[in-house]
Amino acid sequence: MMSVELPVIDPKLVLGTIHPSTGEITVSDKPIAFNCSLSTDCCGNKNFQVPINDMDIERIEEHGYEIDQIVAILSPEIRFASDNTAEKNYWIKRKPFTGKCTFLKDNLCSIHEFKPFACRIFPFQLLGRERGGYTVAVHKSKLCKSVREVTEDEAQNTELLEFILKEVQNEDRRRLIYFDKYGRN
Ligand code: SF4
Repeated sequence: MMSVELPVIDPKLVLGTIHPSTGEITVSDKPIAFNCSLSTDCCGNKNFQVPINDMDIERIEEHGYEIDQIVAILSPEIRFASDNTAEKNYWIKRKPFTGKCTFLKDNLCSIHEFKPFACRIFPFQLLGRERGGYTVAVHKSKLCKSVREVTEDEAQNTELLEFILKEVQNEDRRRLIYFDKYGRN
């Protein structure tokens, strides 16, 4: 198992910061907007690895999928969750030949309601953790053509950060339930 290096932060691509425990957000001075064009440049890209953790897997299994329909390889990397606990990450399964995500059907996510956390916040990602807060930046792959640097009037930083904050808080609540079920160690 290997640990994952956090990417270097490009300040031009930072939305702001979120603090899951207090609910505070801080908006960066780089106005950014995002409107998904359903291009599938992300889910349909054979070279793009989508991380998926144990909680994501359990949630998808609850909807009738088997583990070998969900993940590509059973050799996880270690990442750190918002409460600083280490968690295993696998990679989502891809279709043979095209390499598109196995859950991409008719150019839409067929598991949208219970898709992995990384997909829910894409094309953004959490970087680092300082004094209980995360920096939220455009995903380092820069795969998404629907993220734009815009004028201040058009900025969606606040809405986007609020959405991501909610997703992280939900994930933290799920993690506690998960720990209750399986223990922390
Ligand atoms: S699970 Fe859904 S959102 Fe995530 S990569 Fe696959 S098709 Fe895209």
